[in-house]
Amino acid sequence: MVVVMKPGVAAGEVAAVVACVEAAGGQAFVSRGVHRVIIGLVGDVEVFASLDLAAMPGVAQVTRVSTEYKLVSREHHPERSVVHARGVPIGPGTVTLIAGPCAVETPEQTLAAAQMAQAAGATMLRGGAFKPRTSPYAFQGLGELGLRILADVRVETGLPIVTEVTSAHDVAMVAEYADMLQIGTRNMQNFALLQAIGETNMPVMLKRGMNATIQEWLMAAEYIAQRGNLEIVLCERGIRTFETATRNTLDISAVPVVQQLSHLPVIIDPSHSGGRRELVLPLSRAAIVAGADGIIVDVHPRPDLALCDGAQALVASDLEVLARSVTDLTAFMGRIPAKRRYRSAG
Ligand code: PEP
Ligand code: MN
Repeated sequence: MVVVMKPGVAAGEVAAVVACVEAAGGQAFVSRGVHRVIIGLVGDVEVFASLDLAAMPGVAQVTRVSTEYKLVSREHHPERSVVHARGVPIGPGTVTLIAGPCAVETPEQTLAAAQMAQAAGATMLRGGAFKPRTSPYAFQGLGELGLRILADVRVETGLPIVTEVTSAHDVAMVAEYADMLQIGTRNMQNFALLQAIGETNMPVMLKRGMNATIQEWLMAAEYIAQRGNLEIVLCERGIRTFETATRNTLDISAVPVVQQLSHLPVIIDPSHSGGRRELVLPLSRAAIVAGADGIIVDVHPRPDLALCDGAQALVASDLEVLARSVTDLTAFMGRIPAKRRYRSAG
């Protein structure tokens, strides 16, 4: 069951609902979105129904949600959400292009990649400083030094940053540099990490686990939401199938399926799904036409020298074609390219 509070609700009214639920033996998890407060209830639904919570001051609506994921479900929140990362919207109505290097390697490489991204119309910069690699011998990322490089490049370009955090212990530190935190495919069910990020008010991009069902993915998002953070963007990045011709199989159906089940924005990573440069353009086109709220792509000034995922990184000439497709197909879908703007009050 989910209790949706009225806009501008008083703290005391929220506390009164929580106290009422707890007195009845239930648990109440308060989540604060940009526009409203919602409270997820855990416990006996029949007992909650007898409390007449709908009549309490400040309560807008009480909804029974049939899915296991409640706060991220569309059942109590029919309109699709927009998440903002430092003024860049991700959600319905726009298509957000996020681009940058797979990994931050040097200040020069990161700035060059960011300038390529910006020239292609990207309004956010990606780049990993903490790299969860399959091999312990592979480049693991620059850590906090990489975050400092990203922050410098943000000053230079104005592009907000999305970057991965791999451990609950690092969340506070990464949050000091990032505009949006990234949870990678390998950590989608790192519940301690999900909960730690849930306790921040940072926008977060939650990648789908490569072996996860859509239900499991939404339950992972629910872990974040349950701890109070509703600023979640879902990212489909390909799943493991029997097919070996691509790095992973892009589940394009995930876009409309997730959009029917959840109010959260959903974007696509065609770079990590295809794993090859020449697949990024067709998969990006498919993503936008399927209704994705954005795409996140790898770019690199010298992919032949890249320390991570060079084979899938776009070069400047690819980006011109990508930029044209993004512009044309965004208009075809009746959307506009996402531009940075600051949130209006309230
Ligand atoms: C990444 O985006 O840098 C990354 C490691 O992606 P994934 O977690 O999808 O493999
Ligand atoms: Mn990568």
